[in-house]
Amino acid sequence: MSFSRLALLLVISLRASAAFAYPQAYRTPELDDLAFDSESPTVVDADGRRITIQMSRLHADLQVWNSYPKDEVTGEIVAHWRILRAYLSRAGISDQDCRMDYNLNLFVVPASMLMSRARFQSIYTANHIPDSQHLLGYYDPTLAVDRNSMIVLSDTTPAGNRSLLAHELTHYWWDRLCLAGFLSDGEKFAQKIEASFVASH
Ligand SMILES: [Zn+2]
Repeated sequence: MSFSRLALLLVISLRASAAFAYPQAYRTPELDDLAFDSESPTVVDADGRRITIQMSRLHADLQVWNSYPKDEVTGEIVAHWRILRAYLSRAGISDQDCRMDYNLNLFVVPASMLMSRARFQSIYTANHIPDSQHLLGYYDPTLAVDRNSMIVLSDTTPAGNRSLLAHELTHYWWDRLCLAGFLSDGEKFAQKIEASFVASH
């Protein structure tokens, strides 16, 4: 066995053992049969607005194991919040929380998995996604668990991942700030904030 192969196996086994150090976050039924490698929960402070996040990547999947590094996700959460808050301020809309201690668990899976209409049937149906299109990611308020939410992300390109995360984070804040009381179309809002984020980064 060559040294590089040994080193790769070592890295994988270290990550696999680390997966057992932290309890896995709650997952909705679409992901329930899958195993994830979870990092420790982290509190992100976005200008005083705190979010406890936990990153989980599909277990032992070489395609996603180093995608969405936590440092980059944390930085994006702060940068995205500043853009969203500035937008609300210009529109004269309150940015106050209406849900307290609202966790966010992020799950990363290969893009090919999200193409499965069988696995994600409820998401495809609820979002009226035509046969010609497929899911890249989604936000779920995990209604079965209080003060908890999740985002499912696919790994495509670094730029694609950043804009996808910005989009899904907007859906998270839509819920946390109860923006449905001020704005009528959550999807349009998510597209607008995603575009602003992409334009500024
Ligand atoms: Zn959306």
